[in-house]
Amino acid sequence: MRDKTKAIHEGYIKDTNATMAVPIYQTTAYEFRDTEHAANLFALKELGNIYTRLTNPTTDVLEKRFASLENGVAAIATSSGMNALFSTIANLAEAGDNIICSTKLYGGTLTLAAHTIKRFGIESKYFDPQKPEDLEKLIDEKTKLILFESISNPSITVADIEPIIKIANRHLVLTAVDNTVATPIHCKPLDLGCDLSIHSTSKYTTGQGLAIGGIVVEAESVKEKIKDNDRYAHFNTPDASYHGLVYTDVGLPPFSLRMRLALLRDLGGVPSPFNSWLFIQGLEHLPLRMEQHSKSALEIAKFLESHPKVKKVNYPFLESNENYPYAKKYLKGGASGLLSFEVDSFDEARKIVDSIEIFSLVVNIGDSKSIITHPASTTHQQLSSDEMEAAGVKEGLIRLSIGLEDTQDLIDALKKALEA
Ligand code: PLP
Repeated sequence: MRDKTKAIHEGYIKDTNATMAVPIYQTTAYEFRDTEHAANLFALKELGNIYTRLTNPTTDVLEKRFASLENGVAAIATSSGMNALFSTIANLAEAGDNIICSTKLYGGTLTLAAHTIKRFGIESKYFDPQKPEDLEKLIDEKTKLILFESISNPSITVADIEPIIKIANRHLVLTAVDNTVATPIHCKPLDLGCDLSIHSTSKYTTGQGLAIGGIVVEAESVKEKIKDNDRYAHFNTPDASYHGLVYTDVGLPPFSLRMRLALLRDLGGVPSPFNSWLFIQGLEHLPLRMEQHSKSALEIAKFLESHPKVKKVNYPFLESNENYPYAKKYLKGGASGLLSFEVDSFDEARKIVDSIEIFSLVVNIGDSKSIITHPASTTHQQLSSDEMEAAGVKEGLIRLSIGLEDTQDLIDALKKALEA
């Protein structure tokens, strides 16, 4: 099946009520037939529902549908994108280990890497996602994960995925890609050899800014890479917290199995069934929306590039953009609705943001409603000008998340604000 069909049908098997819409199983727990049934479920002799912190039939549809769109073998939905990222790290690394992160990451992921996991004894090292040769010397026997974004937020950098994967595979280290911005419609990291694909479903998956959530999708490759690999000894040795279970012996995707049985069990970062249902509604039209977001963003990027007041436009499918060769190689059919452009000064940027019509001043992306942000006065306000330079944020930089309004109306609004 192709994406547009998968997005609508995958993962849902109608029960006797035959509801066309996926039902919302709004429940905390599930009744066992008898004690033997209960014991079998706990011992994994039989698979089934026990408690919504572990599994839920509505969330199950979301997980299966997402896994299918990413061409993965399993997925675990989480309470937020940040929880998906933290749980991925926590599933692989422990005190004394390290992970290697791209320098071009979402701000929350950067603080997670630099500060929060440090308090758990996990160190972070950094590499440039377009200079993957630097990676080789950073990997040691304690490295558990290489983490990067396919299209980064907010810098809109497209990672050079192929050489990153080659180096990671040489050392049998798992790779995780935050694919939130590109979505599985425009980028399929698992097909390119990545092991895990992570999303904040709060963005393009809901598509209308309706709920916070996340998901981690596991590739077929993970099983082989983890099995008998000393780097991931905790997947190959008995887990005392689960009656001595060895995750690689069960015959189920091991990363997802451990994330569900150990991390969802102990940390509880699951979505509500209602939010899972909202994400399912969003997925149904994700392919159509991504087509429109990307088409509109490219047209707007071209308009901005031709405007005398604009110094630079960053959109990966502009031929003039430094990301263009990577976009052509790794992205299919578009590069999302995210773009940024630079005007002369801090004051000029603020004037545009304050006067523009239609666009809302919001720190979010992936909404049907167009969004404008001025990083220098908001998300990057606390940085010195040197730090801002290093983060690639100029004082006159404006970021746009192009929504689903009429493209010409958005161009008219930008023109009016630029010329006010
Ligand atoms: N990853 C990316 C690329 C993001 O843009 C965000 C949020 O903006 C996150 C992860 C975090 O997701 P959430 O807000 O759902 O926790």
